[in-house]
Amino acid sequence: MPEDRRPSVSVVGSTICRNNRIKKKKGAVMNSNRMLPGFRRIERHDKLFQEQAHDAYKPQLAEPTVCLQCKAVFEHGRWHWGKARAGARKAICPACHRIHDHFPAGYVMLGGAFFKAHRNEVLSLVHNHETRERTEHPLQRIMAVEEEGDEALITTTDIRLARNIGEALLRAYQGELEYHYNPSEDLLRVNWTH
Ligand SMILES: [Zn+2]
Repeated sequence: MPEDRRPSVSVVGSTICRNNRIKKKKGAVMNSNRMLPGFRRIERHDKLFQEQAHDAYKPQLAEPTVCLQCKAVFEHGRWHWGKARAGARKAICPACHRIHDHFPAGYVMLGGAFFKAHRNEVLSLVHNHETRERTEHPLQRIMAVEEEGDEALITTTDIRLARNIGEALLRAYQGELEYHYNPSEDLLRVNWTH
């Protein structure tokens, strides 16, 4: 069976290896017609964006819990920035956990002639968008921006941030937007080409 037709694996570590290997093949990630293992194309307004999908990085936590690294507080069923009450439990939040594991939930590929000509402006819009989202939602963070030739890959700690970056780029510049979702691991790949 060709490697890219194999079913997705549910072991997180294997997927990291596989993703890393795919990423190193120049051009393979950018070709949106190519299906990545375990990913299927979805519509921009897929109902998964309203649902709380299963995510191994979001375990049940006691309230309140404070993140040992970023100090975000889990309370009333959500993470927020603020001061933890005395006696709050301590844990690592899902965003810091993903950053530690180098295991993104969202991938946004940027490419095309317009992007090549306006790279700094586009990346600055992406960073400004992340700053606004992160102020409200502590788990929505950019992990890295990897620039390869004329393309860039942005990785995020949450699929909603990847999706919202794509929507923000479409609103600001038009272009073409595609979503590919991996349901078994709740991963989203966004391709923006312009
Ligand atoms: Zn944290």
